[in-house]
Amino acid sequence: MTGDQEMDRAQMIAALKWQVEAGADEAVGATPPNRFEQAPAAPQASVTAPARVTVPAPAPPAVLTATTRPGPAPVAPPVAPPVAPSPAPPAAPLAPPIMATTEGPSGYELAGAAGTLDELRTALESFDGCALKQTATNLVFTDGNPQARLLIIGEAPGAEEDRQGLPFIGPAGKLLDQMLAAIGLDRTSVLITNTLYWRPPGNRNPSPAEVAACLPFVERVIEIVDPAVLVLAGGTAAKTLLATKEGIMKLRGRWFNFETARMSHPIPTMAIYHPAFLLRSPGQKRAAWADLLEIRRQLDGKTASNP
Ligand code: URA
Repeated sequence: MTGDQEMDRAQMIAALKWQVEAGADEAVGATPPNRFEQAPAAPQASVTAPARVTVPAPAPPAVLTATTRPGPAPVAPPVAPPVAPSPAPPAAPLAPPIMATTEGPSGYELAGAAGTLDELRTALESFDGCALKQTATNLVFTDGNPQARLLIIGEAPGAEEDRQGLPFIGPAGKLLDQMLAAIGLDRTSVLITNTLYWRPPGNRNPSPAEVAACLPFVERVIEIVDPAVLVLAGGTAAKTLLATKEGIMKLRGRWFNFETARMSHPIPTMAIYHPAFLLRSPGQKRAAWADLLEIRRQLDGKTASNP
């Protein structure tokens, strides 16, 4: 290899490294599109969800031993602000822009028509309302036992989950398995899913529109599975499904009731720290352990009112 070729190689590796650090870590097309020649992106799909989830007011904070059934006042679900319509693009783009489509049935129509998890998965496969689908390798839906009494909802697939199409199989998933084992559970006795069904590129935070686009399907998973206990792992799942802006530090370890308009009864719901956060902050494992014990107690029917 000549000195020039060595230099080219080093430059190429540096350019690749820069792209990975910027979040472009997956090849999504065989030929690179020239974005400078593209027409402006069309408006994002309006993914406003009907106000149909009821989330009763939270239990008093930091009461780890009491399951409360707070008052019935319904709280509106997290609703993404409608995206203001903007003019149609003047010319056809050279490559498809990364965006959701407004065509076809809405997420709520598709999800609502599904009566089983298999049907819901098929509905998701046909749904083009979440832009993340276009950059992801695989749809990541559920793993575990659909008849489980415990349903765990995480944030979004990471790189390994995207590659294999299964939730929580990377490093955070391994810790989640250990956490479950500590209270006598495994993937034959829980069902695991996410708030987002496709990986955000480079593991960036999902946008409110992406979260709102997936929400009808997440709600439908809960309705179909009808678990005895619902666990929300991390701030994204907790804020989305509890319809609050409060952070995970304040939400974790408390019981809430989750209910949608289609459900006949509320489900006791607890937010916990996300296992990926615990990997970065092992000092928080003590709090996570207290939450796990409380979840175990709830599953066993041993709550403050039923010790
Ligand atoms: N983190 C999540 O929240 N979900 C996964 O599936 C993997 C990592």
